[in-house]
Amino acid sequence: MEPSLAERVERVGSEISDAARSAGRSPDELTLIVVTKYHPVELVRDLHALGIRDFGENRHQEAREKAAELADLDLNWHFVGQLQTKKARQAREYATVIHSVDRQELVDKLAGGEHPLDVFLQVNLTDDPARGGAHPDQLVELAERVAATDDLRLLGVMAVAPLDEEPRAAFARLRALGDRVRTVVPEARWMSAGMSNDFREAIAEGATHLRIGTAITGLRPPRD
Ligand SMILES: *Cc1c(COP(=O)(O)O)cnc(C)c1O
Repeated sequence: MEPSLAERVERVGSEISDAARSAGRSPDELTLIVVTKYHPVELVRDLHALGIRDFGENRHQEAREKAAELADLDLNWHFVGQLQTKKARQAREYATVIHSVDRQELVDKLAGGEHPLDVFLQVNLTDDPARGGAHPDQLVELAERVAATDDLRLLGVMAVAPLDEEPRAAFARLRALGDRVRTVVPEARWMSAGMSNDFREAIAEGATHLRIGTAITGLRPPRD
C-alpha cells in the first residue's frame, strides 16, 4: 500500500534525525522546508495539520497565490526558484526567506522594504551559466552588498547539487564557499542544501535548511 502523507512526513523526519546524529549534529539545528510546488493548497493544509510550518515554492505567481489563499494559517514561505528582478518587490510581501539571491540588481530591488527579510545567496555549482545561482567568484562581493543594506539579513549560502557530481563533494564545495562568505559576514552561518535524493549528504556537510519535495509530497502533478 502507498504510504500516507503522515507516514512520509514521519519517515523523512526520522531519516533526517538519523543523518544528523551520524554526522554528530543535533536534529534541532535543521529546518525542514517542504517544497509544495505544483501541488494544490489542500496539500499545504494537510501538511500544516501534520505540524509542518515551512513551505518552499519556486514560481512567483504560484507562491503568491498560495500565500494569499492560505493567509489564515501561520506559515513561513521560502522562495527557492529563480526570481525576476521586476517581481522582487512582490515576492518580498509573502516570502519569509528568499533562497535564490544571485545578483546585485536583485539585492538592490529587495532592499528597503517595510520589514526585514532573510536571504540566502544561491551559488551555481555547475559549469552552465544558465543555471540559477551566482558564480562562486561573485559571492563575497554579493555578501558585502547584502550586508550594506539596512533590512536584508544574510543567512548563508544555498545550492542545488549538479547532476554529474557526487552530492557530498558538491556540498563540501558549498560549505567552503559558506566559509568564504563568513570572512565578510560572520553571522551568515546557515546553509540551504539537500533535496529528496541528497539530504543525507547535505546534512553530513553542514546543511541547516533542507528543501524536500517529492520524498514527502509524492510525485508532482505535471506543470501547466
Ligand atoms: C523542487 C525543488 C526542490 C525539491 O526537490 P525534490 O527533489 O522534489 O525534493 C528543492 N530545491 C529547489 C530549488 C527546487 O526547485
